[in-house]
Amino acid sequence: MGSAFAVASAEADNSHLVLRAEDEVYLIDCGGRPVPRLKQAGIDCAALSGVIVTHFHPDHTYGLSILLMDMWLLGRKAPLKIYGYEACISKVAALMALYDPHLWPGMYEIEYVAVAEATGATLLESENFSITTAAMDHFIPTMALRIVAKSTGYITTYSADTQPCEALITLATGSNLLIHEATGSGDGHTTPAQAGEIAAQCGVEKLIMTHYDVFDPNPDAFITQAGQAFTGSIALAKDFMRIALAPS
Ligand SMILES: [Zn+2]
Repeated sequence: MGSAFAVASAEADNSHLVLRAEDEVYLIDCGGRPVPRLKQAGIDCAALSGVIVTHFHPDHTYGLSILLMDMWLLGRKAPLKIYGYEACISKVAALMALYDPHLWPGMYEIEYVAVAEATGATLLESENFSITTAAMDHFIPTMALRIVAKSTGYITTYSADTQPCEALITLATGSNLLIHEATGSGDGHTTPAQAGEIAAQCGVEKLIMTHYDVFDPNPDAFITQAGQAFTGSIALAKDFMRIALAPS
């Protein structure tokens, strides 16, 4: 849904993703215009089974309040689950409380689901997906996700925001696909070259870099930098890119 680092452009929204099976849809983090963006991706927001929030930084959460309000205005009745670390979802709940949603007539129920901050902790086990997590190294509690698509056995790990850390290596090892941030140098983040090193270390087949500098005049260089250590398939995420969770 979005591929940009914290400063979005007109063409690239902040990093967030949709995880979708036939009748199960999760939003992973939430950019600024969720309902029209979902519609553009061919997804009715009424189909959302839940929202997974990796961490409470504005570029990953700022679209949530308007998403929740729009779904209410569009007639949602079904409860909505919001998954995350306690440190994150307590702040999401506190932020939402400022909007007094109890005064919105017929507002559906929001159920906050706290995930344990341990490597391999389960976020959800459903008909289509098994999702486990690990705590990353990114200033505040931040979770990476390991998603098993049950229909194909295909495993995807999404780093969220982090600097290189052991917990990510542990979580991602054995995955087919690694979706990794590539913000650049600096505390709490990863460079494209480091993303390549991590992909090689984890033995994945494919690396897709996201959360990168969309203002860089030559983003293709990020692929070259990641390719110095990693010989598998490498791509840069683009907004509305679709990825089949199955062997290609
Ligand atoms: Zn962040």
